[in-house]
Amino acid sequence: MKLLKFLKGIILPLLTVLKHLFKPAVTLQYPEEKPILPEKFRGCHTLENCIGCGVCVQSCPCQAISIKKDGNKVVSYKIDLGRCMFCGNCEYYCPVSAIKMGKDFELAKENRSDLIIELIDESQSEGRADN
Ligand code: SF4
Ligand code: SF4
Repeated sequence: MKLLKFLKGIILPLLTVLKHLFKPAVTLQYPEEKPILPEKFRGCHTLENCIGCGVCVQSCPCQAISIKKDGNKVVSYKIDLGRCMFCGNCEYYCPVSAIKMGKDFELAKENRSDLIIELIDESQSEGRADN
């Protein structure tokens, strides 16, 4: 009986190994190998053509977004990634599709304060440079 248990303990794991030996690997040698992300992956946000309406601020369940405006122009757009839960509400409710969930997922920082990032709206900075 003991021998049977012993053999079972060796043979079953060996069969499992053999079963998976010739299948393609499901793991990656990260960070050397990067994953192929799904189309709807929600990574770090990007900003373009923001009109400063503040809908994203209102729709964020984590109070992660703060914007500062000078008149109608957004002069600062910050997201606290330490608070953000990547729900995508900001992207979903933005009336002009200015904020998008990007593909950048390598967001680890050593300090919590470094998780507060400033999004640069290239379209607006070009506009400012022209003025
Ligand atoms: S993804 Fe969700 S939690 Fe993160 S900033 Fe947007 S609305 Fe807030
Ligand atoms: S990102 Fe969209 S929702 Fe947020 S302030 Fe800009 S235009 Fe409004």
